[in-house]
Amino acid sequence: MARIDLVDLAHSYGGDTYALKPMTMTWRQGGAYALLGPSGCGKTTLLNIISGIVTPSHGKVLFDGKDITNATTRERNIAQVFQFPVIYDTMTVGENLAFPLKNRGLARDVIGKRVKEIAELLDLTPFLDRKAVRLSPDAKQKISLGRGLVRSDVAAVLFDEPLTVIDPHLKWELRSKLKALHQALDLTMIYVTHDQTEALTFADTVVVMHDGAVVQSGTPEELFAKPAHTFVGYFIGSPGMNIVPAEVKGNEAKIDGHTIKLNRTYDSLPVGAKIEIGVRPEFVEVAPPAPGLLSANIERIDDLGRVRFARVRIGDVKFAAKVPNGFLVPDNTAGLVFDPAHIHVYADSLLVEGRA
Ligand code: ATP
Repeated sequence: MARIDLVDLAHSYGGDTYALKPMTMTWRQGGAYALLGPSGCGKTTLLNIISGIVTPSHGKVLFDGKDITNATTRERNIAQVFQFPVIYDTMTVGENLAFPLKNRGLARDVIGKRVKEIAELLDLTPFLDRKAVRLSPDAKQKISLGRGLVRSDVAAVLFDEPLTVIDPHLKWELRSKLKALHQALDLTMIYVTHDQTEALTFADTVVVMHDGAVVQSGTPEELFAKPAHTFVGYFIGSPGMNIVPAEVKGNEAKIDGHTIKLNRTYDSLPVGAKIEIGVRPEFVEVAPPAPGLLSANIERIDDLGRVRFARVRIGDVKFAAKVPNGFLVPDNTAGLVFDPAHIHVYADSLLVEGRA
């Protein structure tokens, strides 16, 4: 295992456009990380720079303080699991799992013990003597996961969307299993995905990327409670955070001519910046229209079983708000009740802390 530092790292595949914008960050030894973001935001580029498949055009990669920017994947001692199974069809499941250990010249009894342990953790024990060729795609990908996890001496295990080929009903099971494997094996793991459920169930730290930059890194709770960037608010959560243009002065925000009290005071917002407030649908409730409430036009109700969300419009802006249990939703207009403790202010998409 290793601590991984990215120092002033950036990458351009050529020309003036940067697939990765400058970043400096640390990946803790033994951490379970998810690298989350939409297609094209630079996740695979970053993973490939850590693994050594891509050499960054700027900056350095350090493993335990040692500069390995120009080292090969093998020299870095990294294990990788890709979207599609990488296994030897003609070998048995056991031989496939043993291969990375044999390759490193480990003793037979050490190999046997480790293969048994990993097979047990992945429910592959009954298949150990079977040829891999006849197994289902799910089972083959489990072997790939096992091959990635079998070495205990790796600097990190990197997963690039490893559950893509897995049957939807098995995805949940494997996700939870990977989390348990992380706890059992004490390896540094980095898991790339565009799926927030995968990221939030697997990782203790989620690194959110947007347009080539890391916009926030934190626990799932932190990303939910205090998005550092409007993109994080919008991308995480279902429905995502409401982001509404507002005029903010002191401890008040004016939306569509209506004033809402804030819990914090904002004295010095940057001049000329685009000011917005962000509030998660869970912290705004619809109510009967009343003089003190911001009014909104109801477009539809989404019933998610345990909770209902009203999709409303404030002027041109779409907005989602919780429908309290037993509340009879009016046909057209509703009032909105905000929880001031959960309203955030953003200037040019970045969170402004405000004064308590
Ligand atoms: P996806 O989930 O679709 O794989 P991603 O978040 O992993 O997306 P990357 O594959 O890292 O994103 O791509 C980031 C940007 O770099 C994209 O604009 C992509 O077109 C570009 N890019 C990726 N690989 C290359 C390459 N080999 N040559 C030139 N441009 C590339």
